[in-house]
Formats: sequence, structure tokens, C-alpha cells
Amino acid sequence: MPRCKYCNQLNKVADCFQDPEHPSYSFCTKEHWELYKKEKKVTKKASTPTKPKSELRKLTDYIQAIWPVEPNWQWFNKQIKNLCTETGLTQNDIRLTLKYCIEVKELQVDGQYGLQQFIPKYCQEAQQFINDIKRVKDSLTTIDFEDELVSTPVGRVNVHRRLKEDMEFNSN
Ligand SMILES: [Zn+2]
Repeated sequence: MPRCKYCNQLNKVADCFQDPEHPSYSFCTKEHWELYKKEKKVTKKASTPTKPKSELRKLTDYIQAIWPVEPNWQWFNKQIKNLCTETGLTQNDIRLTLKYCIEVKELQVDGQYGLQQFIPKYCQEAQQFINDIKRVKDSLTTIDFEDELVSTPVGRVNVHRRLKEDMEFNSN
């Protein structure tokens, strides 16, 4: 007599519910088969350490990394939610705009203010920048640069000339 894989009860073969995905698995009822599947899914999820981060998690991780003071998360979550509904931006758009402001424009984060110091002000500019990068990347895959690359030997760079130019630049 087969045992139910969910509750361990012994059943007559005729009364069993067979798992359509695993014909060797038996259950007393369809309900127990469903419960078994649900439970299996939950334990599987919990034991997966390399689960990819959600968009929100990536965004809050980034905010945590760049904000000069400990972010008030209740307030920040509210801001994120409002920005998404008011502007139609995704959490990913917000993160990329922040990244653009901090890493490309090198703007300073003012800890007294929230995300509004950057968003939606810089969204369009950031989007333009990201589109430009994408366009360049796409063109790089279609053009073969292999034979076009010209390498400058390290020893031939004129250091003195460089330094002089830098000094002139600084004194202006
Ligand atoms: Zn059962």
C-alpha cells in the first residue's frame, strides 16, 4: 500500500491520487498533493541563497551606500512609492538616475533632503545618458575594431608635456 507523501497515511492503490509530474508519488487526495507542492516550493525558496535581489532591494541597497546619514526607511519607502505612482518611473529607473547623479555628475547628496533633490529633476538627463551608452555598446558589437586598434607604447607618452598642461590648467 502506498503512503501519502504529504501526511504519511497508507492508502489503497485505487484511492490514491497520483502526482502527474512524478507518477511514483502517491497522495491520499488531490488536496494533499497540492499542499505537498506548496510546502516544497516554500522550503526550496528559503534554502536558495543566490536568489536575485529585487529591484526595490537593489535601490534601497544603493541608497544605503550613498546617503551621508542613516536613511529614514519609512520615509524613503514612501518616497519611492510616491515617485513610482506620480512619475511612472520604476524602482530601477530611480536607482539608475541616482547612479547617474552620483557617479557621472558627481553631485553631493544632501542628507537633509530626500530623493526629490535628484528625482524627477535628473531623470531625463540620466535616461539620455543611458540611451547614449546603449547606442555606443550596440555599435561596438557591429563594428569590428580588431584591426583598427592603435596602441601607444607606454614609454612614448610625453610626461613633461602633460604636467605642463596640467599646471597651466590649474593656474587658470
Ligand atoms: Zn495525505
